[in-house]
Amino acid sequence: MNPGRTPQHCDVLVIGAGAAGLMCALTAGRRGRVVQVIDHANKPGKKILMSGGGRCNFTNTGTSAANFISANPHFCKSALARYTPADFIEMVERHRIAWHEKELGQLFCDISSKLIVRMLLDECQQAAVRIRTDCAVEGIERGADGFRVRTGHGLFHCASLVIASGGLSIPSMGASGFGYEVARQFGHAVLPTRAGLVPLTLSGRHQERLADLSGVALPVEARCNGQAFRNFMLLTHRGVSGPAILQISSYWQPGDDLRLDLLPGHDPLQWLRDMKRERGTSELRTVLAEVMPKRMAQRLCEHWLPDRPVRQLDEPQLKQAAALLADFPLVASGTEGYRTAEVTLGGVDTRQVSSSTLESRQVPGLYFVGEVLDVTGWLGGYNFQWAWASGHAAGQAA
Ligand SMILES: Cc1cc2nc3c(=O)[nH]c(=O)nc-3n(C[C@H](O)[C@H](O)[C@H](O)COP(=O)(O)OP(=O)(O)OC[C@H]3O[C@@H](n4cnc5c(N)ncnc54)[C@H](O)[C@@H]3O)c2cc1C
Repeated sequence: MNPGRTPQHCDVLVIGAGAAGLMCALTAGRRGRVVQVIDHANKPGKKILMSGGGRCNFTNTGTSAANFISANPHFCKSALARYTPADFIEMVERHRIAWHEKELGQLFCDISSKLIVRMLLDECQQAAVRIRTDCAVEGIERGADGFRVRTGHGLFHCASLVIASGGLSIPSMGASGFGYEVARQFGHAVLPTRAGLVPLTLSGRHQERLADLSGVALPVEARCNGQAFRNFMLLTHRGVSGPAILQISSYWQPGDDLRLDLLPGHDPLQWLRDMKRERGTSELRTVLAEVMPKRMAQRLCEHWLPDRPVRQLDEPQLKQAAALLADFPLVASGTEGYRTAEVTLGGVDTRQVSSSTLESRQVPGLYFVGEVLDVTGWLGGYNFQWAWASGHAAGQAA
């Protein structure tokens, strides 16, 4: 602790002891740089700890630029190419952390995300990185010889300053708009931010008709603005969640047309015709309950589909029912916001940042890494891969 005015010197000061900040720190430390990390939270890596349901979906083996949303879609390519999922897996295995692939290239710890935080802290320790928690930043100034950062733990002086303070999601975990304020202070544009990978809320008739189905899950293909995700949807008290909805939420904004294929993988018209021929006396709700949860089938037939034996449906009615099943218009009213969002869309405009070093093009020595930048991954380990890759790229340069 140094409450006085004598600055504590380091080569690299990293603000934010999250995924990107720790990776940046250990990479710079390995190069022999004197690295200090500070964080206002009471412990490092809080989001890593809560990630992946406590097992941290730490990467995705299929990561490519196509899995990220950014106003500048090519920006992430350079860092992702220079620090790949295989590089992170190598570190995980070196620390003897057991992992498994869940689905679609998503890698999780077998035991606990605590092991990933432990691994990063051990690597930091080996690289002589110093970490201070409970350390709030009060102000940043830039002089001819670097940056002066005033904190509750005294003044720090550094040649390179890395902003790794993340986005706005889950404020209770230490998320803040700090990185955006620093960016603006140094003349960087910040693109509008909004919650991503977030449950959607329903209102009006859809809310009334579906709220009591809370807990029901079914496979869907969610479509919006030219994107489609096939996975599970979960009905909640307030709306819809589950991986298909979280994914599409990053492409949805209020007023946008959101559609659900409620029978993904089926040709609903052909299926309805087959049912009429083979099971004509059965109620539509009964045959539907064989391809989706019974309560959902019932609810659809109470409000949206004919509640009759299938043989009573003529061809136009079959076509109408098939169209609704394949292209159900879901009227979402909003999102659950940053309180539950996994990520923040938008952020520091990447057009003023070098894609190879993550250094500001406006202010030499200033770096931005991880989620604070306008680079947001899909659900499935992509966001951590971006944090590792961008942190690594800056750590090699800072
Ligand atoms: C519930 C949940 C589950 C998730 N699960 C996954 C998953 O399984 N796989 C995946 O890829 N992604 C997942 N994510 C997303 C992932 O956690 C983030 O994209 C990633 O942590 C971003 O890394 P970062 O280092 O940029 O920011 P963060 O990890 O958020 O770290 C930022 C750090 O900066 C600190 N900080 C903020 N403001 C200040 C300030 N003013 N002064 C000092 N310090 C400050 C914070 O305390 C924090 O420690 C999940 C997110 C959430 C919320």
